[in-house]
Amino acid sequence: MPKIKPRVPMGEQPPLQRIKNFKSVPYGYTEDEAVEEAERCIQCKKPKCEPACPVNIGIKEMNLLIAQRKFKEAYLLVKDDNTFPACSGRVCPQEKQCEGDCILKKFDEPIAIGKLEAFIADWGTQHKVEVEEIIANNEDKHVAIVGSGPAGLACAAECRKYGYAVTIYETLHKAGGVLQYGIPEFRLPKDIVDDEVKKLEDMGVKIKLNHTVGQNIYYYELVSQNDAVFLAMGAGAPKFMGIQGENPLDGVYSSNEFLIRANLMKAYKFPEWDTPIDVGKKVAVLGAGNVAMDAARTALRLGAEEVHIIYRRTKEYAPAREEELHHALEEGIIFHELVNPIRFHGNDDGFIDYMELVKMELIEDKKGKLNPTPVEGSNFYMGIDTVIEALGTVPNRLFLDRAPEIKKDKRGVIIVDENHMTSVEGTFAGGDAASGAATVIKALGEGKNAAKSIHAYISSLDD
Ligand code: FAD
Ligand code: SF4
Repeated sequence: MPKIKPRVPMGEQPPLQRIKNFKSVPYGYTEDEAVEEAERCIQCKKPKCEPACPVNIGIKEMNLLIAQRKFKEAYLLVKDDNTFPACSGRVCPQEKQCEGDCILKKFDEPIAIGKLEAFIADWGTQHKVEVEEIIANNEDKHVAIVGSGPAGLACAAECRKYGYAVTIYETLHKAGGVLQYGIPEFRLPKDIVDDEVKKLEDMGVKIKLNHTVGQNIYYYELVSQNDAVFLAMGAGAPKFMGIQGENPLDGVYSSNEFLIRANLMKAYKFPEWDTPIDVGKKVAVLGAGNVAMDAARTALRLGAEEVHIIYRRTKEYAPAREEELHHALEEGIIFHELVNPIRFHGNDDGFIDYMELVKMELIEDKKGKLNPTPVEGSNFYMGIDTVIEALGTVPNRLFLDRAPEIKKDKRGVIIVDENHMTSVEGTFAGGDAASGAATVIKALGEGKNAAKSIHAYISSLDD
């Protein structure tokens, strides 16, 4: 094994500067930095990085092309496998996927695959590289897609390539799903999401915003007007602690509401945008996933003096991406391990005032699983101005309750077969709506695969 050079670090805004703005934290690789990083790839005969990518990007070839400064070719290669590389390069949990399986990890740091993917995606956009999509002629067949998150967008792109007339119905006033309303600007700039959506519209995909399927247009209408329907409504309904004081008190948010106000309704641009959020001085965020980190880092940027992560396990079990946790701690977010709130107390004005918590310990059960368990008599109090609950999400029931013929499990997750078809012939589902809350790249992969099944299904109707 030749001596491996260290990974090329990516420049980023220093913590004390970035907590005062919503601009992207990393600056992105320059061409020279990207070439130097791509040159570290040893071009494995059997690259383990590729099968570990849910959309099987040709990572080895991408690295080679970047190392040879063939940026346009690298961009076209990546775009062929993944419709939204600028997004996935920035938000994928690479350490658990491609980079987790990169051979270099055994000797040194793995190739920065995500950062190279984001670099090449941005390079293609900045240089206005045209992707010549070959669109078949099938416009007399129609596909309706519910939801414009990564699953819906990826399915739309592929269905369009098969030539179908594709319409996406989106309940919000902007397309992109969580990429638009959940993940903050400092992690995923919204002009990138808007640009990806525009490319799709340029391909001929129609997007009907402010259209809630199940409310102002019904599922049966979509079925009767289309040859196939793809359900990609995500899992946007928040879970709550269900503890005393939670419901009537002001200042207790679900992470969804908080992030929608901050991102989609641009609360951070108040008063230019008419969405005030007063987080006060001390904020507690419950949970330790990506959503919790996003909420905590957003609260800090909205002016909180102290932001506390409250987690019932230890830091090593935190489900957040490694980089998000690292950035959050660097920014001064205070992480409390092995604690859990049991009651919220309000002041006379009906606002949250303080929380009652218990200490937790991890106790091994018969199967060897470590379960967080309250330590008796360990109750303590924490004064707080705002609480944000980031405890996970489940699919929204609004649509599902009005389409009882679509089978779902106890959590409300749509049941699909290996072809992504639901219990109703011709209706397919993918992304968080059909798997429960997961990842952007999984949603993109499922959208793409579902499109193949939709194509096979529509083609079979002609036989
Ligand atoms: P969504 O992105 O949820 O999109 C569903 C869309 O459907 C939404 O736009 C919604 O408005 C619309 N919709 C819902 N119901 C209807 C209806 N009845 N009619 C019309 N439209 C409807 N994953 C990662 O890989 N990395 C990360 O760093 C990461 N960070 C995250 C941070 C946050 C704050 C959140 C909330 C999630 C994060 N995730 C992350 C998870 C990831 O974003 C999701 O797994 C992914 O977006 C799922 O895609 P989707 O297309 O299935 O659904
Ligand atoms: Fe390159 Fe790592 Fe993939 Fe091997 S596993 S081809 S070193 S990125």
